[in-house]
Amino acid sequence: MAEYDYDLFVIGAGSGGVRAARLAANMGLKVGVAEEDRPGGTCVLRGCVPKKFMVYASEVPSNIDYARGFGWDVQLGDFNWHQFKTHNQAEVTRLSGIYGSNLARAGAELIPCHAGFKDEHTLILTQGGATREVTAKTILIATGGWPFLPQHCPGVLEHALTSNDMFELPELPKKMVIVGGGYIAVEFAGIMNGLGVEVTLMYRGEKILRGFDSDVRDHLTAEMKLRGITILTGVDPIKLHTEGDDTILHLNNGETFTTGKVMYASGRKPKTEGLNLDVLDIKVDVHGAIPVDAFSRTAVPHIFAIGDVTNRVNLTPVAIREAVAFVETALKDNPVAYDHGNIPTAVFSQPEIGTVGLSEDDAKAKGIVYDVYQTRFRPMKTAFVGGESRTFMKLIVEAESDIVIGCHIVGNDSGEMIQLAGIAVKARLTKAQWDATCAVHPTAAEELVTIKDKRL
Ligand code: FAD
Repeated sequence: MAEYDYDLFVIGAGSGGVRAARLAANMGLKVGVAEEDRPGGTCVLRGCVPKKFMVYASEVPSNIDYARGFGWDVQLGDFNWHQFKTHNQAEVTRLSGIYGSNLARAGAELIPCHAGFKDEHTLILTQGGATREVTAKTILIATGGWPFLPQHCPGVLEHALTSNDMFELPELPKKMVIVGGGYIAVEFAGIMNGLGVEVTLMYRGEKILRGFDSDVRDHLTAEMKLRGITILTGVDPIKLHTEGDDTILHLNNGETFTTGKVMYASGRKPKTEGLNLDVLDIKVDVHGAIPVDAFSRTAVPHIFAIGDVTNRVNLTPVAIREAVAFVETALKDNPVAYDHGNIPTAVFSQPEIGTVGLSEDDAKAKGIVYDVYQTRFRPMKTAFVGGESRTFMKLIVEAESDIVIGCHIVGNDSGEMIQLAGIAVKARLTKAQWDATCAVHPTAAEELVTIKDKRL
């Protein structure tokens, strides 16, 4: 009889957990997966996927403006939020089903339950009121993260929405405040603005998108304002209350602000409640994340953790790459440490941001001597219709080696562009090699291989 019920038990059927479970089951191992919600995790159920559909829906009015600029006699009709929401949820349900059937096809057992530890090899699975215990040789924690609401602000817990709620809104409000300055805040600001909601973004810091290149932050701020979004920085609500359909925000500057709904995008926390980590030798860090080494191994050698619960780089493709490295390390005796350097990423703000590598501030902080090549231009499609929006591109080049160490784009399709520019940055190609690549004309991306002048 086998020593354990499972060779591998995975807690969480999200982006990382499902990939690890499928790969392990394909190796012929006995794999169990606990999931307390539907399979798919944040990305499929309440993150990347339904958000991107909302981005598409919200871009339609500006596409109609373009259409008119190109001579089409079209008017923007009404947006049916209920129809969109139902369709979006149906698509999410379809994709969640695919996650479930992919697990089944690989031979992994999906168990709808909450999982917590009893000891280093034993898990307690709870479903409804019933509990049972299972044992596993290797355990992978892939429980993701959850939106965090600031506890110090009275009224927030009762009246504020989180990104989770945005996909389920009963009605679209006329006005909305979004509190936060990170990528989720700016993405929802663009979405709601595009859907016709009067949006105010409130951020307590000086500039939105902390951690991004400073010029990118300034450019996006200007573009968001151009599209009609009000951005208030240095402002933090200290209390919220409602009066009828209105929500009143009491601000740290003594003023009050009346709006319809308030969404908080002020941060996410690793999801570890109910895991009973106390029974193990695992202590979460100050952010609530499970500490792991470069191989995603926790303080207990046969227990690993990947994805958002480790709070390294909280993105779907990263959780997936960490899962692949975990399988190599823990199950194939081939230690692989996923390299978190130069991860290209997009922010689906309007316009989009695509970024990879070091920001100028990062380069400065590392003491790197660098040159900056940058350009700001009106894309031809916008120029044709008389629009004011501009695309911004910036390359940061290490002076001594000529290697492009950072690429930052704000403009239409920059998410698509940065996937490819990411290859060149990851491969540490030089500016001369970028420039030796023939331009694709007429595109916006061609600027990336034709910027000649250093910024002085
Ligand atoms: P998750 O996908 O969150 O999966 C964790 C799973 O574990 C969940 O299904 C949960 O129900 C389950 N679980 C938790 N605890 C237990 C337990 N004790 N027992 C059983 N089950 C449990 N990333 C991108 O790359 N691009 C984007 O455009 C993007 N947009 C985003 C937009 C929003 C609004 C949000 C919130 C996130 C977005 N992300 C995006 C981030 C991305 O969704 C996450 O990085 C990714 O889903 C993390 O995967 P994971 O496997 O770590 O966890």
